[in-house]
Amino acid sequence: MKADSSLASVVIYSPNNSGKRVYPLTRISVHCVVGQCIAYSAGMIFANPDFEASSNYGIGKDGSIGQYVPEAYRSWCTSSYDNDNRAITIEVASDIDAPYKVTDAAYKALIKLLVDICRRNDKKKLLWFGDKDQSLSYSPKPDELVMTVHRWFANKSCPGDYLYNLHGTIAAEVTKQLTGSAASVSAAAAAAAAPASSSSARKETASLSAVDHAESGYTISTKQAMAVQILLNAYGYKGKDGKALTVDGAFGVNTEYAVVQYQKKNKVPSDGIVGPVTWNLLLGSN
Ligand SMILES: [Zn+2]
Repeated sequence: MKADSSLASVVIYSPNNSGKRVYPLTRISVHCVVGQCIAYSAGMIFANPDFEASSNYGIGKDGSIGQYVPEAYRSWCTSSYDNDNRAITIEVASDIDAPYKVTDAAYKALIKLLVDICRRNDKKKLLWFGDKDQSLSYSPKPDELVMTVHRWFANKSCPGDYLYNLHGTIAAEVTKQLTGSAASVSAAAAAAAAPASSSSARKETASLSAVDHAESGYTISTKQAMAVQILLNAYGYKGKDGKALTVDGAFGVNTEYAVVQYQKKNKVPSDGIVGPVTWNLLLGSN
């Protein structure tokens, strides 16, 4: 299947979607991955049906753009039936700690992708109200998209304060480019100029933020372990039994063995534990 956006260099369709959205497209939800992934690795994780989560698009630390769910389809991303049926969802690679900073390459790719999405869907304005009630009660005009954030629908800090504080800047920049005057601002400059919001006290889960997006019974650690198993399989690592890992989220002897092999190959401490270094390495390579 062809990507909706010509900007998508990675197209890995995920089975984790509900088919055609039941409401018209009126929203955009930008998320933070909580890991410096590339578009490919996020796509590989979402491609696994057991993972039960997805997003329409993903943006890597290198600015790579992936499409995982068609724009006309509902992704499983924001922990909200009402929102995901109205929104195009975008996961952006980020640091694993608050404020979940994103790279300049990822920020620039996000702006480009948003402009592209708006153009192809006949939208002229991207709006950010910075208030949940106002955003959800607003009736967008046919040429408007409203930005919403995951933290309004779940006990999460997503999209992280770094991107959250940039939402007004992002909306203004995208709208400006849609109306003709093209100017691009770096993420760092935009962050410096953006008004700081009250910091969210919530801690983002140290894992692909999508891991607990699914409306499923999996715990976060189980989902993160599933992501690890999926990626190790994708990179060709085997368990102690010589077989591909079972994607069950159980961090058993075979998974630990494969992690140690992966760590040895990548010359990082081979303790069999997926900490920040190994997690970012798994997400950031292929
Ligand atoms: Zn999120």
